[in-house]
Amino acid sequence: MKIICIGRNYAEHAKEMNAEIPSEPMFFLKPDTAILKENNFYYPNFTKDLHFECEIVVKIDKVGKNIETEFAHKYFSEFSLGIDFTARDIQAECKKKGQPWEKAKAFDNSAPLSNVWLNKNEFDLGNLKFTLEQNGEIKQNGNTSDMLFNIHELIAHVSKYFTLKTGDLIFTGTPAGVGPVQIGDELLGKVEGTEMFRFNVK
Ligand code: ZN
Repeated sequence: MKIICIGRNYAEHAKEMNAEIPSEPMFFLKPDTAILKENNFYYPNFTKDLHFECEIVVKIDKVGKNIETEFAHKYFSEFSLGIDFTARDIQAECKKKGQPWEKAKAFDNSAPLSNVWLNKNEFDLGNLKFTLEQNGEIKQNGNTSDMLFNIHELIAHVSKYFTLKTGDLIFTGTPAGVGPVQIGDELLGKVEGTEMFRFNVK
C-alpha cells in the first residue's frame, strides 16, 4: 500500500506558503508506516514547528494505470479525512537545499487517518465542506470546490506515473489555514459536520 499526497492543490494555501500555483498536480509519497490509526499522536522530537494540514483522502479500490479522467470515478468508492503532518522547519531546510521533502512529511505517524469511510455516491464530491478544529476553534475551513485539480484529475495524473492498487490512499491537498500544533492540543476533523477524527497531541 502506498500513500500519495498532493501538494498545493488549493490556491489560497499555495499563497500562504508563498509558493507558486502549479500548472499540473504535484505530489510526493508517504510509506505505510506514516498512517496513525490510534488516538494518540506523539510530537516528534526532531521538529520544533509541526503543522497540521487537513485533507480529504480517497481510497483506491481497483488496480489502474494510465486512467482517463472520465473513468477515474470507477477506481474509488469511499473517501475519508486525514492530516498530512508537516515538520515545517525541516521542510524549509529541504526546500532551501533542493532536497526531497520526505524527512519533513513522511515520518512515522505523519498521516493520522479517520476510521470512518464515506460513500462517495452520497455526497457531492465537487462541493464537499470539511473543517479542522484546534482546541475548539475552526482553523481550516475547506471546500473541494476550491481544488485546483479535482479528485478525478488527480487520479488520472498520478496513474500516469504509478500503477494504482487496491488500498492505496490519495491525500488530496490542504486548504488555507495550516498552522502549528503544540503538545496538549486537541484536533478535530469534520466532513459536512460529521465528526471524522478527534485526537490529542502528546
Ligand atoms: Zn498536504
